[in-house]
Amino acid sequence: MATKELQSVAFGSKEAAAMVKELRESYGSGKTRSYEWRVSQLKNIEKMTEYHEQEIIEALRSDLSKPEFESYIQEIALLKNSCTLALKELKSWMKPEKVKSSPVIFPSSAEIVPEPLGVVLVISAWNYPLLVALDPVVGAIAAGNAVVVKPSELAPATSSLLAKLLGDYMDNSCVRVVEGAVAETSALLEQKWDKICYTGNRRVGRIVMASAVKHLTPVLLELGGKCPAVVDSGIDLQVASRRIVVGKWGSNNGQACVAPDYMLTTKDFAPQLVEALKRELDNFFGKNPLQSKDLSRIVNSNHYARLTKLLDEEDVSGKIVHGGERDLSNLRIAPTILLDVPQDSLIMNEEIFGPLLPIVTVDKVEDSFDLIKTGTKPLAAYLFTNNKKLKDQFVRSVSAGGLVINDTIVHLAVASLPFGGVGESGMGAYHGKFSFEAFSHKKAVIYRGFAGDISVRYPPYTMGKLSLILKAMVSGGSIWGIIWALMIYKILNTFKSLAHKLRSTKSE
Ligand code: NAD
Repeated sequence: MATKELQSVAFGSKEAAAMVKELRESYGSGKTRSYEWRVSQLKNIEKMTEYHEQEIIEALRSDLSKPEFESYIQEIALLKNSCTLALKELKSWMKPEKVKSSPVIFPSSAEIVPEPLGVVLVISAWNYPLLVALDPVVGAIAAGNAVVVKPSELAPATSSLLAKLLGDYMDNSCVRVVEGAVAETSALLEQKWDKICYTGNRRVGRIVMASAVKHLTPVLLELGGKCPAVVDSGIDLQVASRRIVVGKWGSNNGQACVAPDYMLTTKDFAPQLVEALKRELDNFFGKNPLQSKDLSRIVNSNHYARLTKLLDEEDVSGKIVHGGERDLSNLRIAPTILLDVPQDSLIMNEEIFGPLLPIVTVDKVEDSFDLIKTGTKPLAAYLFTNNKKLKDQFVRSVSAGGLVINDTIVHLAVASLPFGGVGESGMGAYHGKFSFEAFSHKKAVIYRGFAGDISVRYPPYTMGKLSLILKAMVSGGSIWGIIWALMIYKILNTFKSLAHKLRSTKSE
């Protein structure tokens, strides 16, 4: 306790301000902008992850009892992939993009030059404490920023490992870790940043956004919400069930932002779906899942109490059709399926973020879409069907951060897709090139010479000049449009000088 208090005193507003000042000086020196610096730092993240794989796995086990397989696939490998892709593509991402200029300013050329934003802050959550802390850092560094990471205090082993490893491997004049909880994060949030990337819940997302307002700082908010999974009949139910089970319980035991939060199916099909899910749960985690080494535990006693409260609510506890076992001393809750819980129950109105999966039944599968639309926009939504019309309707009408048809969570691993929420599930996106873009400013640049200066845009303004400029603007930049506009201008000028000559001859 004393150490904790000392720690929070040790990092307050004064320390945060001093740290940001140092980072601004380093950033101002221009070192983070060079291709070489970016590559060296990305390689260091790669090395650090590779050389300390076992320590990372142990930290994740200590924080969450995360199975080694999940730690490897869902954290270490995804982080390494991000580094590998950034290293491979960095040159092309950094290259200015040539674009069409406007005929109004002919001759000229135009390009978009990506530039770093400056000094950025990454605040991360406890559930994927390695990935959601470092994946945005990969983007921030690739884009040439200085960066501060604030790992989650609810995953303390990973947080202190990150502080140690980043301290050892990274250029600490530009990359820092600040450990801590609300006090430390608040001290950080008082500072002026050039971007804040926050991963976590919506309540704190609002706090982060409110702090950002003071300095007009842009935010990337990676939030969560209730991700629905709709299941139609006439599908390969065994494959569908496996993919649902692995997306829910095989993803940190449901403590994942993209894990299915609730299911929707027809009244007629629900019994078959429940049976299929039960079968796969038994196959994957055995008859006594509380003992399974392949399921993460609940992160802490607060979250355990939150989840059991959802389960113990009147009118909900009687709806359990599978699981429900729990073990407070080991913070474990078995995979639990509930059928037809009331729509106004807590479990249907809060993000569950744990191993509980309610199934809601509807008359027609299409009714599911209307039900989804009555809630806030989810981070992810899933549909299992063979019906082409239903797929089209789902993609057209359901708004969510991402959609997957006939699987769960896999979109997260596709680097060519942006990952982020919409509405209350977040704003902005990252992953792959989108990470680079999330931490870059696209600077508009025009190049001109001194030749070909046409007086058409200069006063004195005339209707002729105006109509010429308007014609050039609507020509859309085509070369024929420019030639045509110039010809008209030349003809008009010739007429003008002829008229002038005539007037002067008459007056003589
Ligand atoms: P958390 O408790 O670790 O909090 C996240 C961060 O906010 C931490 O670093 C914490 O120190 C900080 N924080 C907490 N209270 C604060 C306050 N009052 N002021 C300032 N900072 C504060 O994580 P969590 O919020 O429980 O994470 C779970 C949520 O995150 C879920 O909603 C989940 O869906 C979402 N999530 C989203 C993604 C994504 O990529 N979209 C990924 C993981 C988790």
